[in-house]
Amino acid sequence: MPAMFPFRPQPISAGLLATGPWYRAKEDAAGRVVAESPPQYCPRHPERTAFYQLFETHFDSYVRAYEERFEPQSGPLRPVVVRSVDDFLSCGRLEGGFARIRCTKCHKEHLLAFSCRTRNFCSGCQAKRSVLFAEKLTNEILAPVPHRHWTFSIPRVLRGLFERERSLLSLLSQTAYASILKSFQALLGRKDVRPGCVLSLQTYGAYGANFNPHCHGLVTDGAFSADGEFLPLPSLDASAVMEVFRRLLLLRLHRAERLSESFMNNLLSWVHPGFSVYAGPPVDAAETASMESQARYITRPVLAMEALHRLDNGSLVLETPPDPKTGATSIELDPLEWIHRITSHIPDPGRHCQRFYGAYSNRGRIRVAPAGDENVSVPVAKLPERDNSDYSRETRSTWARLIRKIFEADPLLCPCGGRMRIVSFITDPRVVDRILKHRGSGHCKTPDPFEPRPPPRVSAKILQ
Ligand SMILES: [Zn+2]
Ligand SMILES: [Zn+2]
Repeated sequence: MPAMFPFRPQPISAGLLATGPWYRAKEDAAGRVVAESPPQYCPRHPERTAFYQLFETHFDSYVRAYEERFEPQSGPLRPVVVRSVDDFLSCGRLEGGFARIRCTKCHKEHLLAFSCRTRNFCSGCQAKRSVLFAEKLTNEILAPVPHRHWTFSIPRVLRGLFERERSLLSLLSQTAYASILKSFQALLGRKDVRPGCVLSLQTYGAYGANFNPHCHGLVTDGAFSADGEFLPLPSLDASAVMEVFRRLLLLRLHRAERLSESFMNNLLSWVHPGFSVYAGPPVDAAETASMESQARYITRPVLAMEALHRLDNGSLVLETPPDPKTGATSIELDPLEWIHRITSHIPDPGRHCQRFYGAYSNRGRIRVAPAGDENVSVPVAKLPERDNSDYSRETRSTWARLIRKIFEADPLLCPCGGRMRIVSFITDPRVVDRILKHRGSGHCKTPDPFEPRPPPRVSAKILQ
């Protein structure tokens, strides 16, 4: 079984391609990809959104204002925020570099802009990540038994602690799982059983405007014995699981010296504890579409790039359904405040947001895929040996890094059904500029400057 997360770049299935923005492809009866319309290059133009312009125009001011305005509450500016914004600003834009890809059958060429693959920030990249995650879950991870969608949240008074010290977020998901495990074992009256559990750590609520760390989970509605037998839960009481979660989390925070004993006891004495645990109705494994949409929901983007709108007074507004308490139908903040709130959800490097526990953990995973498929999945995208032979040693060494940027589409699949070949990566800003200028000039007779062949001198040089 391949490692599940973070996703390795890999050819995206034809089914996914059909939903992507780049190509319009469909499959014939034999499952081959056939063209529905001529190959189309469909730029997304993120630069036209208020979201993009917010970061393009105000991020430098945000960095300058950070220490005084945001550091006291949120801690020092994290380097990952600066890096992610930088990557995001060139995501999907040819100006940031691109790959030339050519079909071996129809010989069409395209320029494919790199994508940033930032986590919980760029809505385009996160949406693709989410689709792939959902596919992986339903195809390879989830056992053919009913599952429930669980949510674990914590009181407002504890949220700042997790924002300032993000390593504690692991404790949140570990404790959510521990409370499920303990409760399920008690309900089944056995210590030797484990549920299958996928947890997704999120720090954003419905609109990304607040820091609200919580966990979503897809959990088997029962547990597996050591020999793989599934034992359905006889009953379920989410409020009892909440009580376990609350006590365990407070105790663990206290042991980690983040909560004083008196504050812990104070929180334990609250009549309205501020913790909540919710379990949805069981969903049968056969309802793949429902399972996929739940899996997508728990890894959804923070905020759609198109959701923000600029007002004449310079602030930005997000329209929302009426707030149940205040009736407000929008959130209006100044640019720096929006930047702060949106970037607070970018996870620290190396911190996995999706975790697998119990029967779904790497060690104890229940096999659901047919036997003998181990060699089939995760073909980390790379060119055949002969394609590499033309490249310099230096180019080869950066190959893997560059191909990871091609997350937008399967670079080896042409809508005509033929195999695409990556001809070169163009990353030198001078060359990028020259090519894009040529494209934009009246001298370019085709949408792509490299067609018809032979390629212009500039690319010939790169290939030598
Ligand atoms: Zn083709
Ligand atoms: Zn992106």
